[in-house]
Amino acid sequence: MMAFVCSTLPLDQMAFHIPLGSEMTRNLTKADGTGNPETAMETALAEARAAAARGEVPVGAVLVDGTGRIVARAGNQTRELNDPSAHAEMLVIREGCRATQSERLTGYDLYVTLEPCTMCAAAISFARIRRLYFGAEDEKGGAVVNGVRFFDQPTCHHAPEVYGGIDEKRAGELLKGFFRDRR
Ligand SMILES: [Zn+2]
Repeated sequence: MMAFVCSTLPLDQMAFHIPLGSEMTRNLTKADGTGNPETAMETALAEARAAAARGEVPVGAVLVDGTGRIVARAGNQTRELNDPSAHAEMLVIREGCRATQSERLTGYDLYVTLEPCTMCAAAISFARIRRLYFGAEDEKGGAVVNGVRFFDQPTCHHAPEVYGGIDEKRAGELLKGFFRDRR
């Protein structure tokens, strides 16, 4: 029987979590020399707003390369594409992989307005994304600091560095407003 080939990454390189929205979070992200988290998250928020205007759940994501350049941006498109996997994170990962002609995005950072779900957390792990910045926590569907906490599981072989609570107020209000209007 074939043995399952494990990643060589030691488990102690797992994600570390810092208090969401804390001063520490803001300082850490501002100190990050690879990009401008505020600008990238601004772009992700604009994608979330555009998704809402199309009748999609307002979540936006941006993929940034090691120099801070935005290489892909998208909002949710599950309805438009009739594709339950067309979450913003999946779309930017697919586009990034197409652009780089690689199944891995080592050294790339992903910004998303909402805590990723289990599917997206898995894709982020498989793509070897370096850092994940997310906005609002998602108690109902999130899989990073809620739910299955995908990156903390021993079956997860690559975990990005995780920074939560980036612009969480605006990201959260966008979602609340969307679901309020639909009621
Ligand atoms: Zn997702």
